[in-house]
Amino acid sequence: MIFIVVIFMVPASIQFYSHRHYRIPIVAGPGVSKVTKLSEYSKGLRRTMAETNVFFLEGKEEGGKALIIANTHSNEPSALLTALVFIENAVVDKGTLIIIPCFNNSGSRNTKPGDGYPLYFEIPTEWGRKKFRMGNRNAAPLDQWPDPDVYIHYPDRQLLSYIDVRNTNRTWPGRPNGPLMEKVTYGAMQIMRKEKVDIAFDIHGAETMFPVTNCIVAPEKSMRIATMTSLTVKAKEGFDNHVEPSPSGFRGLSHREIGDYSDTLPFLLEAPIPFLDQPTGPKTEKLLLDGKDPFLLSLSKKKKLFVPYDETGWPMAKRVGQHCSVVLEIMHQYSRKFPERAIRVRNVPRYAEVVKNGVGHYFHNPEKVDKDDIYYN
Ligand SMILES: [Zn+2]
Repeated sequence: MIFIVVIFMVPASIQFYSHRHYRIPIVAGPGVSKVTKLSEYSKGLRRTMAETNVFFLEGKEEGGKALIIANTHSNEPSALLTALVFIENAVVDKGTLIIIPCFNNSGSRNTKPGDGYPLYFEIPTEWGRKKFRMGNRNAAPLDQWPDPDVYIHYPDRQLLSYIDVRNTNRTWPGRPNGPLMEKVTYGAMQIMRKEKVDIAFDIHGAETMFPVTNCIVAPEKSMRIATMTSLTVKAKEGFDNHVEPSPSGFRGLSHREIGDYSDTLPFLLEAPIPFLDQPTGPKTEKLLLDGKDPFLLSLSKKKKLFVPYDETGWPMAKRVGQHCSVVLEIMHQYSRKFPERAIRVRNVPRYAEVVKNGVGHYFHNPEKVDKDDIYYN
């Protein structure tokens, strides 16, 4: 009996171990001026699996500063891919871009075997296939354990689900000596306070059956810019991205706490991710990338989805393209309002270009660049 258990355990352990230690190469593009670690801002992250890279793209001309956070939830990969499109291509003419592509690094090394998550996914490029870890929503229990019965949010003392202690979109604003994920969000808060960040993006994906999807979530102080952005991308680029107000009574979320605990204007971006909906077929890499599912298609005909949905699904290029355009447009709207704190970025594709060329078009071959320009996350 024990023999049979061991036969099943050994190959599974090897697979999980390889996944946890697989490193994604990120090519620092022409705009990257400095790469540092999040522990520079939150010392408690040193020598933990939550340590992660922070990329700085500093323009020649001084201006405003924007922070882009991806992989808050590592099972919503359109965010990570968008961050990499910026890191590998963006050139900043005025102001500074700060990018954390793998915010919950521990979560990105976790998986959900009960739901049959693929361990990896691959994006086709002109030079081959770029391989990524598919992560989970929450940090790995190997890195933060045990969970409490109830998570008491700091500092509001709101009672949250036990699992949210490992969810970096419930642990804002965090504290330097709290649980590991609070140290992660605290690190980002310190970046915003110390570097005087003007605007922050937290990029996500959400189920097509969940009303808060395909949208910009904004608190009161970000609302005007979010609304102008939503109207502009609809008029100029033809895609919907409505605005959702950030509820003030629901604590721990980036779009609430960043605004309340710093001078930064936060924006949380959601693009649809059919893979995360419950009534779908198997959770395959294909579903993750093309978003095509027959069950969602029939639900869409019954008007049960909150996004337009047809046989074309929701391909990754559409989701990443939307994120790129919305980030660029929010920066543009902010710069118009505060010209002395403008952030001017070029060489990042917008929606139509990403849809036409595919996401992989914007990734560089790590084998063809200087080794010093490659960072692993
Ligand atoms: Zn999310």
